[in-house]
Amino acid sequence: MPTKPLRTLSALRRETARWRSDGLRYAVVPTMGAIHEGHLQLVREGLKRADRVITTIFVNPKQFAAHEDLGSYPRDESGDLRKLAQAGSHAVYLPRLEDIYPQYFATTVSLNGPAKTGLEDKFRPEFFTGVTTVVAKLFLQTGAEIALFGEKDYQQLKVVTQMARDLDIPIKVVGIPTVRESTGLAKSSRNAYLSPSEEKTAISIHQNLLRTAEAIRSGQAPTRAAAAATRRLTAAGLKVDYFEARNSETLARPRMAGEPLRLLAAAWVGRTRLIDNMKV
Ligand code: AMP
Repeated sequence: MPTKPLRTLSALRRETARWRSDGLRYAVVPTMGAIHEGHLQLVREGLKRADRVITTIFVNPKQFAAHEDLGSYPRDESGDLRKLAQAGSHAVYLPRLEDIYPQYFATTVSLNGPAKTGLEDKFRPEFFTGVTTVVAKLFLQTGAEIALFGEKDYQQLKVVTQMARDLDIPIKVVGIPTVRESTGLAKSSRNAYLSPSEEKTAISIHQNLLRTAEAIRSGQAPTRAAAAATRRLTAAGLKVDYFEARNSETLARPRMAGEPLRLLAAAWVGRTRLIDNMKV
């Protein structure tokens, strides 16, 4: 069945009002499009948890800094609609800019806590405010009961979960494990920027996450193990923004033996910035 494109806020509201009056539970999958298997997995997980799934596609200008890739971000609307229909998304919300940021828009949603841990926020200072502002709007515009986010963007998952809790938005945020290529590379819309040889280099991020998680589990100090991974990646030609072991809940630096840890990494392969993470 073709998925229903909803191109305005009022079209979205008409559709969701119908679902609510039919007593249906619905889930939202927020994306920036260039749909790949990672996004489709979120849709499938949504279908297990709700009667209807709505995917949103909005390339949010507020989460890109001036020097970042907003202009060149991959866009493929007809391909996206086809893939989402095949995966079973009941509707796709493709808002116009003015549906999200009407004239005189003046509100931002901004967090401390997981959004201020010196990871993505250190390298992309405007990023999370852009994300939380748009995600708060998408939660409120859709009125969904469940939202699905990928663990691929682990800090973002923590930030969005915290925001919904802090603002009493009645939505359950569910994190879904990262979908990878057979090589281990995390699927990402930005992988489209990689040349075949860069793609080979990029695999070393995942390999180093695996190796470092194993080293920590076998007793190596997290900071030392992460520093060694940074050195190896740098030697392989990547420019590492960070490769760190953090508390998997708070994202604070580890302080005690035995606390749950997550490795989080961001690195440049040529002109492409990739992020990934792994449970220790
Ligand atoms: P994006 O379109 O990149 O903003 O991503 C939209 C959603 O898809 C976010 O919740 C991402 O974490 C999630 N996502 C992106 N890539 C993957 C992946 N490889 N596996 C699972 N989820 C993903």
